[in-house]
Amino acid sequence: MTTAALMNNYGDRTLTLVKGRGARVWDDAGNAYLDGISGIAVCGLGHCHPAITEAIATQADTLVHTSNLYNIPAQEKLAEKLVQLAGMDNAFFCNSGTEANEAAIKLARKWGNEQGKTCPTIVVMEHSFHGRTMGALSATGNSKVQAGFAPLVEGFVRVPYDDPAAVAALAHNDQIVAVLVEPIQGEGGVHVPAPDYLNQLRQLCDARGWLLMLDEIQTGNGRTGKFFAYQHNGILPDVVTTAKGLGNGFPIGACLARGAAAKVLQAGNHGTTFGGNPLACTVALAVLDTLEREGCITLAANRGAELLQRLSTAVADLPQVVDIRGKGLMVGVELNAPCGELVGLARARGLLLNVTAGNTLRLLPTLNINDEDFTELCEGVIELVKNFSPAA
Ligand SMILES: *Cc1c(COP(=O)(O)O)cnc(C)c1O
Repeated sequence: MTTAALMNNYGDRTLTLVKGRGARVWDDAGNAYLDGISGIAVCGLGHCHPAITEAIATQADTLVHTSNLYNIPAQEKLAEKLVQLAGMDNAFFCNSGTEANEAAIKLARKWGNEQGKTCPTIVVMEHSFHGRTMGALSATGNSKVQAGFAPLVEGFVRVPYDDPAAVAALAHNDQIVAVLVEPIQGEGGVHVPAPDYLNQLRQLCDARGWLLMLDEIQTGNGRTGKFFAYQHNGILPDVVTTAKGLGNGFPIGACLARGAAAKVLQAGNHGTTFGGNPLACTVALAVLDTLEREGCITLAANRGAELLQRLSTAVADLPQVVDIRGKGLMVGVELNAPCGELVGLARARGLLLNVTAGNTLRLLPTLNINDEDFTELCEGVIELVKNFSPAA
């Protein structure tokens, strides 16, 4: 039983993990599990990667936190590295995904206010997930996540995902300042849009003078086989947010901006006490360095293609399988009935998986998963899906 001293917002948790190495974790009874979810797309380099452990330990013994009253060399270096990887101009650092999106939302609002718009409005998508703080929650397209938290923040207009025409149809709305969208919807059920969806949104935003703001909190940091998922499309957003995989488990988020968007936030406009501290930035620098040095992004691209291929060959034709989709190591298997029970069945056979949107098995393994673990993951998922018989 989880202690009553914790708020019940996570419910009762029944598994206690105490140790991790690579794609494996161990519980308090010594049982090993293959981690197919990587702390929800966070530990892309695997648990306790030696380079990350070393960066944490060394920096913890040097300087942890100073506040943003002072120069932070690691923050500057991380900004330079990230904007170079992303093709962006500058960065703001915070501690989580939702905070990165708050920065993007505030940036878009200020940009709109500067143009004399009285109700700067951001276009957001159905089934999106952007986080749990009030702004990000209001942008989120999930009534379950929003339930009970009215009044929500205004200034959002919602359209269906993967439907550029629905965005184009908002052209009459002169209060619109930006489009905020996930390149692949994660929490919403691993929805991969048409290959040219982002290109179409880029064109629409260019034609209307709107900012294209991409939430790459789950898709970023190599997860889909490129550093950012928009790099599959050969476009650049005006704003991109990242978090999850950036610290491999150490909390850090970032909002990157380009062009006019990069000039919006000025001294005093936005800030955070912890964000971008020496420890967080040193760890993120080690993550970027390791992703590159170990070729993890190429690994994710190749493994991801192999995972889709293997799953498709083995289970795509089964009646209980609706769809198998994904990009890189962000893969969903949609079943024809709610499949929450698979989480427990997988766990019983030593595999950690997640179910999202009720009926979609979600796989987010470590980017550098080894051959043996990868085979075990594929075989485990195939067997679970084969044995899944939806209630009639
Ligand atoms: C996880 C996630 C968030 C929220 O990140 P937190 O770090 O939990 O605040 C926002 N957007 C997307 C797409 C996510 O996957």
